Amino acid sequence: MSVHTGRVSQRAPRVDIRPQPPAVEGGELVWRSRAVLDDVERELWFARPAADVPAEGAERRALADAHLLGWLMHAMRAGLPVHVHGPVSARLLRGLEEWQEAWALWRPEVYRAVTITADEVVEPAGPGPSDVVVAFSGGVDASFTVHRHLTGAAGRRTVPLRTALMVHGFDVPLDRPDDFERAVHRAGLLLAGTGLRLTTLRTNVRDHTVDWEDEHGLALAATLGLLADEHGVGLIASSGSYDELEVPWGSSVIIDHHLSGALEIRNDSSGLGRVAKIDALARWEAATRHVRVCWKQVGAGANCGACPKCLRTHVTFLLAGAPALEAFPEIDPRRVARVRMGGWIEWELWRLATVEIRRRGLRDPWARAAVRAVRRNRLLLPAESAVRPLVRGLRARRAARSAI
Ligand SMILES: [Zn+2]
Repeated sequence: MSVHTGRVSQRAPRVDIRPQPPAVEGGELVWRSRAVLDDVERELWFARPAADVPAEGAERRALADAHLLGWLMHAMRAGLPVHVHGPVSARLLRGLEEWQEAWALWRPEVYRAVTITADEVVEPAGPGPSDVVVAFSGGVDASFTVHRHLTGAAGRRTVPLRTALMVHGFDVPLDRPDDFERAVHRAGLLLAGTGLRLTTLRTNVRDHTVDWEDEHGLALAATLGLLADEHGVGLIASSGSYDELEVPWGSSVIIDHHLSGALEIRNDSSGLGRVAKIDALARWEAATRHVRVCWKQVGAGANCGACPKCLRTHVTFLLAGAPALEAFPEIDPRRVARVRMGGWIEWELWRLATVEIRRRGLRDPWARAAVRAVRRNRLLLPAESAVRPLVRGLRARRAARSAI
């Protein structure tokens, strides 16, 4: 006979992640999980076109790796241990111990390393598939990664790329499906003839993030991991090079590999800066026609040609001597001269382009305008970045003090 004491058990607080069995809904295979955060139950989901998912295999059995990655930073912010009510890769659990330590050092006022447990810890059954998937947005970094692996320019690091994955819910909001369709269409034009399969995935992971700059690497690894049935490696194109690394930043060559789970995650191409990448892309005609860097005008499926990112990328392509540049409207040097850079990181990227302009002795109107814009913005930007310490920011401020 049990005795009811009337007392509620006082279990130590933790974040319980409860994955649900994947289900086909409206033509998509959907992976859902629930977790209670700040006394509110929330749902995280990932969805792929069911036709793109193999009929049998681990993806349908569904490890809970993506859910763990999607919720982790909430637990780190709260300093609470995590328990996953499902199977998680042993490799991911090992890697996350290291990954969390990096963040606990980088932003100790925000994140703490927490203990992670799971109902089941899964070791890989054998060597994984050899095919490789790349996270693809249609921008410069991902296009360069595709280009260098398809042309063998990655040397011994070259991998057999098979798939490009575009995610709806990262840069294009979920409530703009038409915009995403146009972005996919443009990416398809860029990849036409490469033999790569372009596949898509939708997720609401960004709805739950507090700081996308910190969390986007986790989200990328989560989505790539959902393609582990057919791929052994997932590539994340670097957004910073070894000499211009931003720390802390959600994805980099320093930490991305610690997010390997059912498939191995590799950060790709940190050995080259933005100018060098665009130098290579300028010789790939499809990239000069279809690369997409602008998120201001994603609805039109093209680059606006007027925002700082469009202008900087356009200038860098011209610097590379791109023969024809259909990806952007014709450059307006007055617009380049008047560009208002958003901060020292943006300024530093412009500065690096103008270093090359000077080194190559270019005197075209757009080139002179870019040099003027860098000088002008050096005076317009605040003396100290109020954001947070950045390796690149520090370099930029140092450079700003010296004459250019
Ligand atoms: Zn733009």
